[in-house]
Amino acid sequence: MKKHNFSAGPAILPASVLEEAAQAVRDFNGIGLSILEISHRSPAFSAVLAEAEELVRELLGLSDDFGVIWLTGGASTQFFMAPMNLLDDDKMAAYADTGSWSAKAIKEARNFGTVEVVASSKPQNYSYIPKGYDVPANAQYLHLTSNNTIFGTQYHKWPETNVPLVADMSSDMFSRPVDMSRFGLIYAGAQKNLGPAGVTLVIVRKDMLGRVSRKLPSMLDYRIHLENGSTYNTPPVFPIYVSMLTMRWIKAQGGLQGIARHNEAKARPLYEEIDANPMFRGVAEKEDRSLMNVTFVMAPGKEDLAPAFLQDARDAGCVDVKGHRSVGGFRASIYNAMTPESIGALVEVMREFAGKHA
Ligand SMILES: *Cc1c(COP(=O)(O)O)cnc(C)c1O
Repeated sequence: MKKHNFSAGPAILPASVLEEAAQAVRDFNGIGLSILEISHRSPAFSAVLAEAEELVRELLGLSDDFGVIWLTGGASTQFFMAPMNLLDDDKMAAYADTGSWSAKAIKEARNFGTVEVVASSKPQNYSYIPKGYDVPANAQYLHLTSNNTIFGTQYHKWPETNVPLVADMSSDMFSRPVDMSRFGLIYAGAQKNLGPAGVTLVIVRKDMLGRVSRKLPSMLDYRIHLENGSTYNTPPVFPIYVSMLTMRWIKAQGGLQGIARHNEAKARPLYEEIDANPMFRGVAEKEDRSLMNVTFVMAPGKEDLAPAFLQDARDAGCVDVKGHRSVGGFRASIYNAMTPESIGALVEVMREFAGKHA
C-alpha cells in the first residue's frame, strides 16, 4: 500500500527527485560512475555545485551581496557557528525564543558576546509567535526560527526592526518567497524540506562577515567556505546533488510563488477539518499556524482515544502522525513535497474516526 509520509524529518521528497537520485546512484548522467564514487572536484560534480548555487540564487532572487555555502553539522552547528562568525565578544545579539530549536540556538549563542532574549512564547508552551516587541538598535542581528517544527507555528510577518535578521529556516526553506533585504544570514538543514540529511544550506550577506576579532578554525569560518566554493574539504556530495534536484522541481512548480500557493491550498483542508471536527482541536494560535507542521490534539475529554486514532491513521497508510513528546497529540508534517492526495487521506481518516466515535 502507498504510504502517506507525514514525518517531521528526515522527511518526504518529491517522487521524481527520488527516481532521479536513484538513477544517479547507479550511473550519474551516463558517465559510467555512481554519484557516490566521483571526486568532489570532478567536472561532473562541479557542474552540480554550480547549478545548485544558481538555483538558490534564482529561487530567492539573490544579489551578489550574498554568498551561498553548503556545510555539514546540521542546523545545530549553525546555532554556534552563526554567533561565532557574526557576534564579537563585546557586542550584543537579540534572540526570539519561539520553540525548542530557538532555545538551543540561544544556549549556543551565549558562548559568544551578549545574548538578549527580546521575546519568548515559552510560558504558553510556544503556542504563538510573539509580536510587537522592541529590538535594541545596537543588536548585531535578531535571530529567529521562521517555522517551529515541533510546535507548529510559523512567522507570517517578519518582526519590525531595522536590525538584520538571522534565521533558522530548516523546516520552511523554499516554501514561500522571502524578502532577502531583511536578512543577514539564513541557514537550513536539508532534511526537512530540501534533501537528505547531511547538508546545511547557508546564505550569508557578505558584509556581515569579518567583524569579529576572535580566531576562527578554518572549518568554522564562513569566509573560508565562501572562498573555496564549498570545497575547502569534501562536501556532502550526494545530499547537495539531491537538494539540487529538489530545487529544479521547485522551479518547475512555479518557483517560490508557485510553491507557496500549493502549500496554502494544501494546508487549508487539514486545518478546516481540525476546526470542524468535534474530536480534535488545534494547538497553535490560528494566525501563527504553520503551513509545514500541523499540530493538533484530541478534544478535551477524548484524550484516551489518541492511540486509536493513530492506529486508524496507520491502517490508512498515514505514517508518522504522532506529535512530538513536548506537545503530545498529533503532528502532520506537510512539507513542499506533500501531495494534496495524502492530505486528503488523513482528512478522510479524521472524518471516519469522528463518525465511529460520535
Ligand atoms: C530539525 C531542526 C533543527 C535541527 O537540525 P539538525 O540538522 O538535526 O541539526 C534545527 N532547527 C529547526 C527549525 C529544525 O526543524
